Order: sequence, then structure tokens, then C-alpha cells
Amino acid sequence: MTGKLVDPTDRYHRGDFPEQRQEWPGLQRDMEPVPDCGEASYVGTGRLTGRHALVTGGDSGIGRAAAIAFAREGARVAINYHPREQPDADDLAQVFARDGQELVRLPGDVTDAAFCAGLVDEAREKLGGLDLLVINAGYQQARESIEDISDEQFDRTMKTNLYAMFWLAKRAVGSMPAGSAIIITASVNSFNPSDDLLDYATSKGGIEIFTKGLAKQLAPRGIRVNAVAPGPVWTALQISGGQSEEGARKFGQDTPIGRAGQPVELAGLYVTLAESGTSFTTGSIFGANGGSL
Ligand code: NAD
Ligand code: MG
Repeated sequence: MTGKLVDPTDRYHRGDFPEQRQEWPGLQRDMEPVPDCGEASYVGTGRLTGRHALVTGGDSGIGRAAAIAFAREGARVAINYHPREQPDADDLAQVFARDGQELVRLPGDVTDAAFCAGLVDEAREKLGGLDLLVINAGYQQARESIEDISDEQFDRTMKTNLYAMFWLAKRAVGSMPAGSAIIITASVNSFNPSDDLLDYATSKGGIEIFTKGLAKQLAPRGIRVNAVAPGPVWTALQISGGQSEEGARKFGQDTPIGRAGQPVELAGLYVTLAESGTSFTTGSIFGANGGSL
């Protein structure tokens, strides 16, 4: 980043997105345009040197942008992702390798409680510690009516967005040293539900309260808990059932900034919430939504 002025309105893709749809969970390498996670642009200055980070959903989108930024700020990074996303994870490993860094890849399904516990332990072991946990994996499928939401979908949304968060945090906190940070990815849906995202918005509302409650519990131990609440950001989740066809084509155009966000535009928030410069900030939710709430 430089001090050069950048106009946010025309920084990235504006207007309709090309027609595209993928099977869940989707690969961002096959998207058009490919989301910008900072591969070619994020420049670090050592703000997280010596830190050890686990990022769920780190293969693509917002999690990938956080992973790249953390690594370029000097942290050791492990990511989790669904096994079907191995190609995106491998692409990211190459980005790390070009930077002279190693990406620890820990694939597996976070809707499984035992897997989540093992994931935390393995990340701590492979990284040599764990003081930064980003709980970011999410499941979102648009349905016009409550009558179209199957029990299976409702269950998967809650397991991914709420249960996994609980399982991961529960396993991690006991061994996180004072000064550690937990960052959870919430949503504008945490406060203002989209009418076709009822189950998703319900889970994201839960994330807001979990963040605030866990922050109160962990503050005396010196562990901070905050959340980032994105608005429309161009990622694989959106073209793999997260939006209707129309919603995906027009994605983000109704924000005051007039376009969808790109994952790299959120990376700075994750870094800021991770570093000790925000040591008095806990239990707070930070927006990145182009002006729409
Ligand atoms: P993304 O598809 O790039 O990332 C989501 C990730 O979740 C996937 O890469 C996958 O690795 C992970 N995941 C989902 N189910 C999983 C499972 N069962 N096991 C393991 N991993 C699983 O999309 P994204 O938009 O970057 O999503 C990241 C977070 O941002 C999500 O929590 C999402 O709800 C949130 N969010 C996104 C937007 C947006 O507009 N893109 C807006 C608000 C909130
Ligand atoms: Mg992915």
C-alpha cells in the first residue's frame, strides 16, 4: 500500500458480472473475473512477525485475502478448506512459495466436531503455536421462501456457520496465550437479513452475539474477539448457490460505492484486528460493505 490516492468507485470491476454458476463449494480459479485476494498487490511491513495463524475457508475469497496479508506481515499461516477445494489451496501454496513462505494446508469438513478439534491441534503443532484464529468458513444458499429451505440445508448452514465456530473456539482458547486474537467473519446479514437468505442470516445474527459474548469471557485472559461484517464481496460462495442468477449478475451494484467489493479490500481489517495496535478493541463488529448496511 502507498499513500497514493485511490478512488474506490472505479478500483475494481463495475457493472454486470458474466453469467456463471458452479457446483458448491466452487473454485475461485474458474471464476470470471477471478477474485482479487491481494496476490499481486498486498505489501506487508512486518506487523504480525512471530504470530501463528489458522484461517478457515482460507483457500479462496475473504479467508485467502486474510491468509496472504498475514503471511506478508510476517505470520506463519495454516488454512483449512473443504477437500474439494484442493486446487484453490494449491494455487495459494504457490503464491506463498513465490514469497519464500510455506503454507500449511489442512483440508477437512468443519461440520464435523471431531475434525474441528483435531484441526486446531494440528495447526498449533505444525505452526509451533496458535495465537490468531480466523473463523471464516461459511455456507450460504439463496432460497426465495422458507418453504424452499430443506432441513438438510438449514442443518448444514448452522453446522458450518455456528457449530464449527463453537467447536473451533472451544478447542483453541485453552492454549491461546494472552495477546491472542480471534476474528470471526460475520455479515451485513448479521443485522439486516436479505429476504432470500433466511437461514444464513439467522446464523450470521448468532455470530454477532457469539462474538460479543465470547469477548466478555476472554477479555480477562487477554484474548480479544472481534468480527468483520462484509457486504457484497465477489467470491466463489456467491456463484455456487449463494445468490440467484440475477443476484449474481447484478452483484454489489446497489451499494453506494456502486460495485461489489474484492476480498483484498478486507485484508487490512483482519490485520488490524490481529495486531496489538488494537489491544483495547474487543467484542466489536467492523463493516466492509461499500456503504450499504
Ligand atoms: P468463499 O467461498 O471463497 O469462502 C468460503 C469458504 O468456506 C470456502 O472456501 C470453504 O473453504 C469454506 N467452507 C464452507 N463449508 C465448509 C466445510 N463444510 N468444511 C470446510 N470448509 C468449508 O467465500 P467468501 O465469501 O470468502 O466466504 C468467507 C466468509 O465470508 C463466509 O463466512 C461468508 O459467509 C462471509 N461473507 C461473505 C460475503 C460475500 O459477499 N462474499 C458477505 C458477507 C459475509
Ligand atoms: Mg473456497
